[in-house]
Amino acid sequence: MAMGHEKGFIPMETKTIRDQEYFLKSLREDGVEEIYVARAKQTAAGKKSAVSVPPEVPQEARTAQPSVSQTGPRSVRDELIELRDKVLACSRCTELALTRKTVVFGAGNASAKLMFVGEAPGHDEDVQGLPFVGKAGQLLTKIIESIGYTRKQVFICNVLKCRPPQNRTPQSDEIMNCHDYLMKQIALIHPQIICALGTFAAQTILKTGQSISHLRGKFYDFPGSVPPDGQPIKVICTFHPAYLLRNPQDKRKVWEDMKMIQKELEGK
Ligand code: SF4
Repeated sequence: MAMGHEKGFIPMETKTIRDQEYFLKSLREDGVEEIYVARAKQTAAGKKSAVSVPPEVPQEARTAQPSVSQTGPRSVRDELIELRDKVLACSRCTELALTRKTVVFGAGNASAKLMFVGEAPGHDEDVQGLPFVGKAGQLLTKIIESIGYTRKQVFICNVLKCRPPQNRTPQSDEIMNCHDYLMKQIALIHPQIICALGTFAAQTILKTGQSISHLRGKFYDFPGSVPPDGQPIKVICTFHPAYLLRNPQDKRKVWEDMKMIQKELEGK
């Protein structure tokens, strides 16, 4: 029920203790079971006064602005936004910078426990500026939901942030150019688990030349740097959703990998 001068409201400041006792007793006899307390006093500007300033505090201290927002530690989200702005303006790969429509930085939760990393944006991603939004992206959404998570709870990005023309294989110099962006994303988000989607992401993150069939199905320690006081990051590799669209017989293997992720996240 809302506060106000409805049933049982008592303007206490207008009554003596004896008056209040008598008034409460009479209300009880009238069947009133609840009373309401008046709202906090309002300032002259009509807003609640959150902090009272003692009169002995000097005038300059009363009017000083809070400094927390200017001097406090920056949030992961702030740092991700700063990194995103840098990546959006990147032209390290001359060809990709000329042919792309957008730069696909990545999307999701800045404090995600689970991070998915694919290869590079495709046509739909290049148009929309978002990762995994085509048919493969729809399948990835189902895969994420199959273990009880949503896209908003995880972070999704690619090794390359720009689409290679005609979806050609990323070149080694492009991978090197973009590598520190991915490492910075991982360092800022610091997920519990990175799920590398497909051969290209698995080989790039684990710094190996082994096939995805060999790499999938087990956890690895993230070979990149982790802060000394930070929790270790685990890496698991599975088939890329685009591969699954062409090879649905391997969906069961991806499901097995997802169950491993789910158990790890739930601490089982
Ligand atoms: S792929 Fe990465 S390094 Fe290359 S231009 Fe795009 S953002 Fe820059």
